[in-house]
Amino acid sequence: MERLIEGFDQFRREVFPQQRELFKKLAHGQNPHTMFITCADSRVMPEMIFSTQPGELFVSRNVGNIVPPYGQFVGGVIAAIEYAVQALEVQNIVICGHSDCGAMKAVLHPEHVADKPAVATWLHHAETARHVVAQHDPELCGHDVLKCLTEENVVAQLDHLRTQPAVAARLARGTLRIHGWVYDIEHGEIRAFDAKLGKFVPLLPNVCPMPEATPRPRLAQAVAEALA
Ligand SMILES: [Zn+2]
Repeated sequence: MERLIEGFDQFRREVFPQQRELFKKLAHGQNPHTMFITCADSRVMPEMIFSTQPGELFVSRNVGNIVPPYGQFVGGVIAAIEYAVQALEVQNIVICGHSDCGAMKAVLHPEHVADKPAVATWLHHAETARHVVAQHDPELCGHDVLKCLTEENVVAQLDHLRTQPAVAARLARGTLRIHGWVYDIEHGEIRAFDAKLGKFVPLLPNVCPMPEATPRPRLAQAVAEALA
């Protein structure tokens, strides 16, 4: 605990004075552009990875970067999504998994969490991904199956995300973009799900259009066609 108190002291002495104006502005409200849903893993630090300032990312973390489908479960992540989409009106939602994820390892080896009933129950929300991987190639082993499951879990959670009414309404209108990423801790790289290609590709700067999981905005298209 001394480590945290020393770190806070360093923040107060070195960081806070330099950003005093920013904190003064943020004291009365937030306007984040992106909701970032990721794993609780201590090695994933969104603000460090994306060089963001306080006030930019609305972060929700849980074991396995999971979004339960609508109607089955109401908890912190669902409330955070509703608030981000309806109250904060974020422009983007990112679901970000990562390499060497303990939650994904537990999905592959449920016996490891047999004595942790809360974790085991929570990870049922990753069952779709496990099933997809098992049906796709049961011969995959070791790192490959973990990598494949981690990506499929992001895709499954994107599907769950789209079942949230607030998200579905804004996607239909074309006012929200959704993204599925996997962060590689060892190599400092991100692979992004490209819905058009149906696969993960490297996330690189200055690539236009960037890979994303956003579906076609049906209602915006209908309006455009009606006006044409
Ligand atoms: Zn993890």
